Amino acid sequence: MHDLSLHAIRDALARREFSSAEITAHFLARIARLNPALNAYITVDPEAALAAARRADELRARGEGGPLCGVPIAHKDIFCTNGMRTSCGSRMLDSFVPPYDATVVERLAAAGCVTLGKTNMDEFAMGSSNETSYYGPVRNPWDLERVPGGSSGGSAAAVAARLAPVATATDTGGSIRQPAALCGLTGLKPTYGRVSRHGMIAFASSLDQGGPMARSAADAALLLNHMAGFDARDSTSIDTAVPDYGAELDADLRGLRIGLPREYFGEGLNPGTERVVRAGLAELERLGATLHEISLPHSPLSVPAYYVIAPAECSTNLSRYDGVRYGYRCRDPLDLQDMYARSRAEAFGDEVKRRILVGTYALSAGYYDAYYRKAQKIRRLIAEDFRAAFREVDVIASPASPSPAFRFGEKSADPITMYLEDIYTIAANLAGVPALSMPGGLIDGLPVGIQLIGNHLQEARLLNVAHRFQQATDWHLRQPAGIA
Ligand code: GLN
Repeated sequence: MHDLSLHAIRDALARREFSSAEITAHFLARIARLNPALNAYITVDPEAALAAARRADELRARGEGGPLCGVPIAHKDIFCTNGMRTSCGSRMLDSFVPPYDATVVERLAAAGCVTLGKTNMDEFAMGSSNETSYYGPVRNPWDLERVPGGSSGGSAAAVAARLAPVATATDTGGSIRQPAALCGLTGLKPTYGRVSRHGMIAFASSLDQGGPMARSAADAALLLNHMAGFDARDSTSIDTAVPDYGAELDADLRGLRIGLPREYFGEGLNPGTERVVRAGLAELERLGATLHEISLPHSPLSVPAYYVIAPAECSTNLSRYDGVRYGYRCRDPLDLQDMYARSRAEAFGDEVKRRILVGTYALSAGYYDAYYRKAQKIRRLIAEDFRAAFREVDVIASPASPSPAFRFGEKSADPITMYLEDIYTIAANLAGVPALSMPGGLIDGLPVGIQLIGNHLQEARLLNVAHRFQQATDWHLRQPAGIA
């Protein structure tokens, strides 16, 4: 049952081959057995999940219920869930039980989804390895000694180990695509504003975007259908109709122009990763696409610009955690100042503190022009690079991450090395354009992701290219050997 795709589960439920209570219980049993080794979930509430599944079965029996009625899914622990702890991977929110659902959670529940639990993540989504979680690192199902990527590492590990058919995730600088790449999945970061941020705990508001984590492009499309859409409660939400992302999956690729940015195939790229990506591109050529070298000249500036803008926004967003309104409060504060200082010192981890310090510095009077305003100018140039590129090509392809999954501790001692993990993913967030990662092959038994970037609102195009690739190859069907 756990090998079934999201589509297959939906259809089997509709045909009454099994009930939601049965498949939900099946996934809960797998989580109980395998999660202690993987640490993919932070919170699982079997009773609530089974109760929701039984309700879904009742609705179906009455001929009611949404299009995904009774389908179990997992939510990244950054999405607020009414009545269920939402920690964001932080000690700060270890006891936070939201009184409302994020829009994404609300929409998926309205479609009929049953929440299995909340997945582990880097603290406040800051990281590329899941090593910054207060709840401990997630292990990569392909090799338990290696990281699953981050920050949506719990969602990626849960789907790769088949502890959930699909999961929600978020991407501020690569946190859907990089863990999807390292765990052999299809993960899509939609256009900024396509998926509501309401109830999605803020890291860097101008970059954060929710999206689907799935085992195939077809499943990612189906999940996105029920995540995307205008939301008046998010002031940056895009007010245009949501297409059926499944409708164009089979469209022919003949004549598709794929751009290869020369800046993404140079120094720093693992030769094995490059071979896998080139082989994938050759496959897309066989499917009728043509390859064109392009330039995104400001690419080398994307990581430095991101590491000014993201920390600046995070320092502002995280100022709300003051020990007063919600979250952690230190014991026996001497006075108000002591309470602020100690609550934050005790509840935030090192990476979060580092970002708050960098961000506060970059925004302070006297440095604002030198850092923040400069970074915003670079951001504009990067967006213009994409605008120019998309006049010549339909889609841009690149590696998703410079190398396959690395070992625990390998990069965590040096923040800069870790920050370079997102060298190919960050520009799409700065420009607000959609991008996905799909499995392109294996190196020494570890998955390698190919990234596809599209112009604004071209999610359906990206899913189409990935789906056609997955019809012609079987990399997305490979499974981690040690997980039965
Ligand atoms: N790894 C990047 C960071 O640490 C991106 C994280 C994300 O996309 N949430 O900021």
